[in-house]
Parts: sequence; C-alpha cells; structure tokens
Amino acid sequence: MHTHANSSESASGSLLGWLGLRGSRSQAPAAEAAPAAQPAKAAPNLLRQARSQLLESVSMFLLDHDLAVTADNLLAAHSAFSGANPRLARQIATRINLGQPITQEWLDEVTCHQEKDSGEEAIERLMTKLEENLDAFAHTSKTARTATSDYSTQIERHVEELEQEQEAGQIVANLAQIARAMAERTRKVEHDMRKSEEEAKSLRLSLAKARRDADVDHLTGLPNRRAFEALLEAHHREAQAAIEPLSVAFCDIDHFKRVNDTHGHDAGDRVIRTIGETLARITNENCHVARHGGEEFVMLFRGLTPAEAKLKLDDAREKMGARKLVNRKNDQPFGQITFSGGVADVFAYPDPRTALAAADEALYRAKEEGRNRINIATPALPGD
Ligand code: GH3
Ligand code: MG
Ligand code: MG
Repeated sequence: MHTHANSSESASGSLLGWLGLRGSRSQAPAAEAAPAAQPAKAAPNLLRQARSQLLESVSMFLLDHDLAVTADNLLAAHSAFSGANPRLARQIATRINLGQPITQEWLDEVTCHQEKDSGEEAIERLMTKLEENLDAFAHTSKTARTATSDYSTQIERHVEELEQEQEAGQIVANLAQIARAMAERTRKVEHDMRKSEEEAKSLRLSLAKARRDADVDHLTGLPNRRAFEALLEAHHREAQAAIEPLSVAFCDIDHFKRVNDTHGHDAGDRVIRTIGETLARITNENCHVARHGGEEFVMLFRGLTPAEAKLKLDDAREKMGARKLVNRKNDQPFGQITFSGGVADVFAYPDPRTALAAADEALYRAKEEGRNRINIATPALPGD
C-alpha cells in the first residue's frame, strides 16, 4: 500500500509540477535581421562623379544658407538637387534669383505641407499589432488544445490505475486535484481566448478606419495624393484598354500666401476648403480631384481631352473668381480668390507621372502669364 501511496504521490507530484510549471510562454523570436546589404558594385567614374556632385550640392546648399544639418534639411536638399522634387528645386532657384534668403523658416514652410506620414506607416503599425494579436490568439488556442489533450492522457492513466487498484483512495484524490486544476486552467484559457477575440475585433475596426483615413485629406475631406495616385493608375489602365482620352490637371491658388499673411492660417485653411469644394463640384465617377498638398490640387478627367478638361476648369475658375468671399470670423472680405491650372494629355507622355509633371509645368506658365488662367501642356514632338 505504501508503495502504491508513494508511487501515487510521486505521480501526483510530477503531475502538479506539470500543472504549474509548464504554462510559461516562450519568448517571441527576435525579428529576423534584415538581409545584409548587397556589396556595392564598383561604381564607374561618371557615376561616382555624379554622386560626389550631388553630395557637394547638398552640403553647399546647407552651408551657404546657414541651415542646420538635420534629417529634414538633408532630405529637402537631396530631393531638390537629385531631381526628385523639381518643384522645390524651382522654388529654391526662383528665390535665389530674386535675391531672397533661404531661411529655415522658408524651407520649413515650403516643405512642411508635404504629407510626412502618408498613413501607410499607421496601417503598417496596425497590421503589426493585429498580427501580434492573432499570434497570441493562435498561441492561446494551441495551449488550450495541448492542455486538454495532456489532461486527457493523465486522466486516462489514472483511470487505468484506478481500475487495477483495490485501494483507490489516493488515486481518486489525485484525480479530483487534476480535475480542479483542469477546470481552473480551462477557464483561464477561455478568458484569454475571449480577450484575444475582442482585441482582434477592435483591431480590425481600427485597421479599416486607418485604411479609410490613409486615403483622405483631413482639411478638405478630399482624397489625398496617395489615393489620387491609385485612382489615376486605375483610370489610366481602363482608359488605355477602352481607348478613351485621359487628362490630368494641376491647380494652385493664386497669391495664397497673401491670404495667410493678411487673414491668418485658419482663414487660409477655410479658403483651401472652399477651392476644394469648388473643384469637387465638377467631379463625378470619371473626374476626380485630390488635394496634392498645401494649396495645390490635382485632377483627372477620364474621357475628356485636355481642351475639354480646360473648359470645365475654366468654368469652375470663373465661378470662383466671381464669388465674394468673406472671412466669417471678422466679416473682412478676402478679395478675389483665384486659381491657376495646367492640363496635360496623359497619353502624350510615357506615363501618368510624367504627364502630371507636364501639367505642373503648364501651371507654372499660367502663373508666369498672369495667373487666374488654365494652360494646356504642349508635349515635345518626337526628336525634340
Ligand atoms: P502663387 O500665386 O505663385 O501660387 O503664389 P502663392 O503665394 O500662392 O504661392 P507660395 O507657394 O509662395 O505660397 C503658398 C503658401 O501656402 C505657403 C504656405 O504657407 C501656404 N500653405 C501651404 N499649405 C497650407 C495649409 O495647409 N494651410 C494654410 N493656411 N496655408 C498653407
Ligand atoms: Mg503652391
Ligand atoms: Mg499658390
């Protein structure tokens, strides 16, 4: 009997150990290290020269204008001098030509309105959280499954012993202990699983909202540049397949800085919203407007030639010019608010992005020619 009691005790001891000690979760494996960068191939001399020139332009720009060596300034200088942001390059060149200083304040102003957090990062963060949560969920379910199967094995073994034993008192006590521990642990697992499910549900809702937010410009409620790029890509594909015209436009509020300077930034925001609404009035399922950033808007006109798109824009422009906007905070008139635009035929260029750049050039000419007008881009002839 003692022998049985001892063996039962040791069985229950190991069993209790098993019940208490095996629950600890192993550490999540560290994220895999990023693959090592490919060793750079020996750069030909010209490439090296171009790189060194770019570095020099960037550093001279910062030094000449007494700008701090910050990540933002380096990024701005790089985008201007590498050709990635021709508009900023032009703004810098114009300012230098006019003999106006390139100050930190000016640089921040021209670059700060370019959306930094595109929303993709927010989605990425949520996706990661959601994945972690689902991992935890999977782990909880696995634990539940393993625990149930382990308990069953133990119970089966004891039941077998029980069948063979005359003096079954200790074994029954052990079984009761196991059953109690099992019930407790199953309840905890159940609770964890329910919590994981609730978290996953709320994360899914946040993710759907983040997805929607990532496509919307918060000031105007219009699609943002990211969403516009997706729209343009889709319409480009469809227009190409259906052999339909497709035009793009860039619009920019005239002398907008004056509005800000005279009436303040908030009033300026309201003017941006008003222009957004004016342009949105001419949109439909084949015509879209988006806020590109700052006081600039981009549009696409599916099924319309640049001349037809210009007519629509001229109409919106004239209506806008005829309005007498008043600052509702103090009843001061804003004066005439106008905008200029440039239109380009997407299929006259190698890709939509180049067509947009051409529309931007046409807008620039509209500004030079006196503003409050829409210009059509003239594509270069082959061989030009
Ligand atoms: P132009 O006719 O040549 O376009 O002159 P402009 O004054 O409109 O152009 P500029 O690019 O010099 O100034 C644009 C100003 O728009 C600079 C910036 O302060 C302002 N701005 C950009 N984004 C916003 C915004 O979201 N809200 C407000 N209130 N102002 C903004
Ligand atoms: Mg502008
Ligand atoms: Mg402007």
